[in-house]
Amino acid sequence: MPLVHGTELFQAARKGHYAIGAFNTNNLEWTRAILKGAQELGVPVLIQTSMGAAKYMGGYELCKQLIEATVKSMDITVPVVIHLDHGDFEAAKEAIAAGYNSVMFDGHDLPFDENVAKTKEIVALAHSKGISVEAEVGSIGGEEDGVVGEGELASVEEAKTLAATGIDFLAAGIGNIHGQYPANWKGLHFDRLQEIADAVDLPLVLHGGSGIPQDQVEKAISMGISKLNINTECQLAFAKATREYIEAGKDKQGKGYDPRKLLAPGTQAITDTFKEICGWMGTKQVKLVPVEL
Ligand SMILES: [Zn+2]
Repeated sequence: MPLVHGTELFQAARKGHYAIGAFNTNNLEWTRAILKGAQELGVPVLIQTSMGAAKYMGGYELCKQLIEATVKSMDITVPVVIHLDHGDFEAAKEAIAAGYNSVMFDGHDLPFDENVAKTKEIVALAHSKGISVEAEVGSIGGEEDGVVGEGELASVEEAKTLAATGIDFLAAGIGNIHGQYPANWKGLHFDRLQEIADAVDLPLVLHGGSGIPQDQVEKAISMGISKLNINTECQLAFAKATREYIEAGKDKQGKGYDPRKLLAPGTQAITDTFKEICGWMGTKQVKLVPVEL
């Protein structure tokens, strides 16, 4: 079973100036689509569930078992990390108990001292079970009730303090945004990324990877971003392919309404998007699973 906690994979990515994709899943089709792309390219992959997706799918235990069983049934041989995206304190503990390989504890909206204290607790709990931990400083912008926030730029001092808690990956707000980017977006703050990369040698994480111009992502990767979170891009690809299928009336031809037919174009679109992004991220093939869990 090629499930790994990912720490060595992402460290190798940071050293090698490439990134590994962190793709959100929502159901069986997304899980299969992402794993198919990774296997066809021979690259490692991190599959993550947000708290909302885990709730939608039936809980952390179900998500973990679904991904694990799918890896097995598809004969996947590339390294796979099952990760919790943006977990609060309780969610991180639940995902750890459910056997995730890696968790993000996102305490960015807590007072900084409390973020540090709770991150330390999660690190102790996770590391006792061989599970990796991602934490966040600054904040990732995004749309809330129609208002697009730019997010709070991560402080270098706070990044150093959070890195010293023993975490494995650090997510830092550098002007990146979740969801679709507004036309007047100012771009990534490369000066701050450089300062953080100089101060912290952990693999750095770029959230909101969908929609950042490719040249900016490539520059960020060359500076130390090793984990690139992709969600919206796959959602848009899935929706577009599904809409085209229905608008072409294919669901009304023969048994085109069969969910296995109806969801097939969207599922393939996720695999295609995965492969396209991994191609330009420079994700390296990994022939051997470093440490099997
Ligand atoms: Zn995120």
